Amino acid sequence: MTTVTRFAPSPTGRLHVGNIRTALHNWMLARKAGGTFMLRIDDTDAERSEERYVEAIRADLEWLGLIPDGEERQSQRLDSYDAAFEMLRAAGRVYPAYETAQELDLKRKIQLGRGLPPIYDRGALQLSEAERAAKEAGGVAPHWRFKLDHGEAITWDDGVRGPQKFDAAQLSDPVIRRADGSWLYMLPSCVDDIAMGITHVLRGEDHVSNTAVQMQMFTALGATPPRFAHEALLVGKEGKLSKRLGSLGCDAFRERDIEPEALIALLARLGTSMPVEPIAARDVLIETFDLGTFGRAPAKFDDTELDRINAAIVHQLDYNAVCDRLPKDMDAAAWHAVRPNLEKVGDAKEWWRIVTGPIEQPAFDAETRDYLAEASDALAWSDSPWRDLTTTLKERTGRKGKTLFLPLRQALTGMDHGPDMGELLPLIGEDEARTRLLSGSQG
Ligand code: GLU
Repeated sequence: MTTVTRFAPSPTGRLHVGNIRTALHNWMLARKAGGTFMLRIDDTDAERSEERYVEAIRADLEWLGLIPDGEERQSQRLDSYDAAFEMLRAAGRVYPAYETAQELDLKRKIQLGRGLPPIYDRGALQLSEAERAAKEAGGVAPHWRFKLDHGEAITWDDGVRGPQKFDAAQLSDPVIRRADGSWLYMLPSCVDDIAMGITHVLRGEDHVSNTAVQMQMFTALGATPPRFAHEALLVGKEGKLSKRLGSLGCDAFRERDIEPEALIALLARLGTSMPVEPIAARDVLIETFDLGTFGRAPAKFDDTELDRINAAIVHQLDYNAVCDRLPKDMDAAAWHAVRPNLEKVGDAKEWWRIVTGPIEQPAFDAETRDYLAEASDALAWSDSPWRDLTTTLKERTGRKGKTLFLPLRQALTGMDHGPDMGELLPLIGEDEARTRLLSGSQG
């Protein structure tokens, strides 16, 4: 049986780092098994779903390199939900209920006041045919609940959490359809998972109790439930699920010049027992992906860790991977020269500006000015002008270490530190280098 996974966002907003993590893990689960990764747009909520978010979800997945093998949209599958609904209704697994939101709220408050769990009391099932007819004659349209089977315990072996057991009597019969005929999440998701041949549902642990209900729906629909795995939620460094975390989306990362590969490397292993490493090769991440390594404690997302991974990833990126984001004339040699000094790809343009000039030199004292005059005289062009220059100057002046190198770096770049001068000097070029050394010598 091939593995089929899905990522099922609701297009009611932009993806945030928590959704991205879920998408990634589903993608990796499918890729590792040589299976299929599907995108399912959960847009049954017509009021809150927006087309621009559907487009943003697709664009974000593309930027992340998590390309789905196919896409389904719930708004185009309403007929299937109707059919499933009719089937469940005929089987007595769906029933109409007439309570208003206020009535339900009151029931819950009374239960809680008595120290009881706020489970729906199945009041609607007690109604006689006449009472129901009276409600409808009075203009109350019913909403619809799925009738849980209280007969046997609901169990599954969760891919992350291990064996799970729920008593259906401790759960409310879920509302699956509103009075206006629109759908809530619960049933359409099962209908789609069956139709799409989903073999593994991997999602956040906030869905665990939904899974208990959905296990019975799959069975009621005549299907074998997929394998379920619920991962611990992602939280901010400070421990709480911060608002900021929810605002962290692909746009924010792109603006910060974070590489998708950095985000992928971090999110692939955050919350697992594997070390988070700057692994740019996706096949390595896929190969080592294992639900068995997922911990039960919330995974902590830390921006500084992302920056650290990002820098280490940038140091590995080939020129071809970045050339369209570099200044126009910056070539592969220039990229390789500055790459080890970058935290972000965008910082490359600062170094390129230093290569092309003009630069601002510090004020040099008289002794250093003489030294720089000597340097402009000693400069000769070859395959390794920096090595030649420093060798000659060492012989002529007796300088060594910092006193030999630092004034040259300062005169040539205006900086105290930076990329290897052996790689930078050829980029600056002979004429410009001599001009800079001379200008330093003149103070
Ligand atoms: N649209 C649901 C959500 O975003 C999907 C949950 C699921 O994976 O089944 O929470």
